[in-house]
Amino acid sequence: MLTQYQYKLGAQCPKQLYFHLNMKKPQSEMVQSLIDQSSEVKDYAWKHLYPEAKSVRSPGFIGDLMQSMLATSLRNPMAFARFSDGDREVTCDFLLPYGEAQSWILAEVRAGTKVTDVYLDEIAFKYTVLKSKGVHLAGIRLHLIDTSAEYRGKHVFKEVDVFKEVISLAAQADAKANRLISVLSDAEAPECQIGRHCGGKTPCAYRDQCWDEGLSIWDIPFLSAKKEQQFLDRGIQYLDQISTADLAELDLTEKQEQFVATMINKRIDIDMRGAAADVDCWSFPLVYLDFETDARAIPVFDGVKPYEKIPFQYSITIEHQDGSVEKKWYLHDSEDDPRPGLAARLFEDLEVVGSLVSYYDSFERSVLRKLASLYPKYATRFLSTADRSEDLLQVVKRNIRHFEMGGSYSLKSVLPVLLPHLSYGDLEVQNGLQAQIHWRALIQESDRVAKLKMIRDQIEYCDLDVQAMVELVDLFKSWGEYYAHQDAISASA
Ligand code: SF4
Repeated sequence: MLTQYQYKLGAQCPKQLYFHLNMKKPQSEMVQSLIDQSSEVKDYAWKHLYPEAKSVRSPGFIGDLMQSMLATSLRNPMAFARFSDGDREVTCDFLLPYGEAQSWILAEVRAGTKVTDVYLDEIAFKYTVLKSKGVHLAGIRLHLIDTSAEYRGKHVFKEVDVFKEVISLAAQADAKANRLISVLSDAEAPECQIGRHCGGKTPCAYRDQCWDEGLSIWDIPFLSAKKEQQFLDRGIQYLDQISTADLAELDLTEKQEQFVATMINKRIDIDMRGAAADVDCWSFPLVYLDFETDARAIPVFDGVKPYEKIPFQYSITIEHQDGSVEKKWYLHDSEDDPRPGLAARLFEDLEVVGSLVSYYDSFERSVLRKLASLYPKYATRFLSTADRSEDLLQVVKRNIRHFEMGGSYSLKSVLPVLLPHLSYGDLEVQNGLQAQIHWRALIQESDRVAKLKMIRDQIEYCDLDVQAMVELVDLFKSWGEYYAHQDAISASA
């Protein structure tokens, strides 16, 4: 039987559904966190939008179906009603009796902020099953997260009427479902080309089955659909299939051409003088700062908007002109609002002069400005620090092109090339998403020993980001010193 989750996987790519059925890889941490968030949002919508709806969940699939049919005949509002036509099964978020004519309103809830084709397609699949079971829908509502709504104990949803759009997609969804039902019993994987659909917000977990190693045309920055098609028409999927003649004939932008040339010719192009000059004008003390933040679809604290970034941790390294170094950090370790404690400590830890250095500094600046608006007593220092900000990412982008970075300028791509002794590989927490998930677990941990270990892991991760920035700047400065020395020798010769 085709479930709605299987339909979603198959709609993205039938081959993905086949692999899911036959290989059963565990969910990635990212996908699992999206699933958890979706459940949280649906439960919240139940409480705030449809408290009158009764759950029809019972132990087991058959029990769910029977309870749902019973509630349908009694015209009860339902939460998580389940229906099956024998080949497909769906769970409706909320089903509400409407009018006298045995009609219903389907209300679906999503953690996203705008209507997407994927949402409409999933709902169209549900519509086809409900129709086959004789559940007549008079309306379909889609509840999405309203990012302009401040959380004050009330709901944070906006409602969109998607009835017409869903009806217009129903026949297409029906045909797609029939095709996917046959995949359930296919002995071999269906033929599917790789492409953009393999990535996106929920990337396919089976890339290793379909993709070769090496960069592809989808790694070319800002590649339009038209240019993508031009590559595919020539049978080109990977960069190493591109010839010089292709490059001359395909109308790529200067940046795209530069990217392709760097990758296929394994080019290394580093402007050492440029990088050194960029960091040389920064003022001491250099304050290296990295925040970690949490962002939830349903905010936890009053006055916070959905998906607003809440800082819970920072690491700071201060480098003085005399070479002395100070390290400071803050990590909130309880479930209350982290911002008051963090802001008070940050006020103490920041310098009143010197440059603030961060990697992708618009993020750090935005956190500082938000804290300044929340805590006026600290505002002057936070705002003046934000105004003295320098972005190390831009220095790297301007001056370093290296084929091994694969066109990425994230610290995780830059470090193996420029500072190979620094690595995230051995850390328990290895990226921003993990830091967020790890922190949520940390603040709820009741075992003292386990909590201390989690705190250490969390600090290690944030600290490595800062250490990487410090060493990058030191490296660029050493390049400057080398050239200054060479220039002095040339001048005296
Ligand atoms: S990697 Fe792409 S082509 Fe392969 S199964 Fe996944 S989505 Fe389909």
